[in-house]
Amino acid sequence: METLDYRVARKRMVQEQLIPGGVKDPKVLHVMGTIPRHLFIEKGLQDQAYLDRPMTIGSGQTISQPLIVGLMTQTLELKGNERVLEIGTGSGYQTAILSKLAKKIYTMERIQTLSVVARKLLYRMSYNNIEFKIGDGTLGWPEEGPFDAIIVTAAGPEIPLPLKSQLTEGGRMVIPVGSTEEQKLCRVVRKGEEWITTVLSGCRFVKLIGKEGWSHDNK
Ligand code: SAH
Repeated sequence: METLDYRVARKRMVQEQLIPGGVKDPKVLHVMGTIPRHLFIEKGLQDQAYLDRPMTIGSGQTISQPLIVGLMTQTLELKGNERVLEIGTGSGYQTAILSKLAKKIYTMERIQTLSVVARKLLYRMSYNNIEFKIGDGTLGWPEEGPFDAIIVTAAGPEIPLPLKSQLTEGGRMVIPVGSTEEQKLCRVVRKGEEWITTVLSGCRFVKLIGKEGWSHDNK
């Protein structure tokens, strides 16, 4: 059973952060108002889970602030029938949201411990439309592609080509791109052999490390 405090905190997160910040999709608001974000955060920090800030999730990685999660999710325009590729499973929080909004989620993470912990948690919480893979997400998941939507929650110097080619016609991708200091959150839509890119905002993410991303982890 969840305490009232967390329910109240979640409601406030929706009213005071997501709606004023521009999240309009009612399904995204509903799902984020329902999923217990605090369970994806280590015990000692759970009371801060609904604040307007990113938080550490171990292995030097972070879970994005709620507003960024909401805006990125909304950008994918999910209707419920999609196959979605997520790069950067991390805590599994974004994965849980996608799981409620699309048909099947394929999530990749390069750090084994994070993937395993997220898999166990999501299994215990009865999410059952998610496939997990440990590996370099900059190469995508060609055996399962193409995907109707792709979300990348770490930033590389450019948009990895394998991910572009694994989008369906009309498919949407949301991805932060830029240097390690300064990045832009981009929306990419595939139209045939063209990828139409628009910049949504400035942002700051952890590094996308892999063959088509940054080559090393010198933090
Ligand atoms: N969506 C996550 C946020 C994770 S932070 C959440 O809701 O908690 C970004 C994650 O991307 C980190 O866990 C990092 O290890 C992972 N990552 C970085 N480069 C990657 C790559 N090439 N392939 C897969 N995962 C990668």
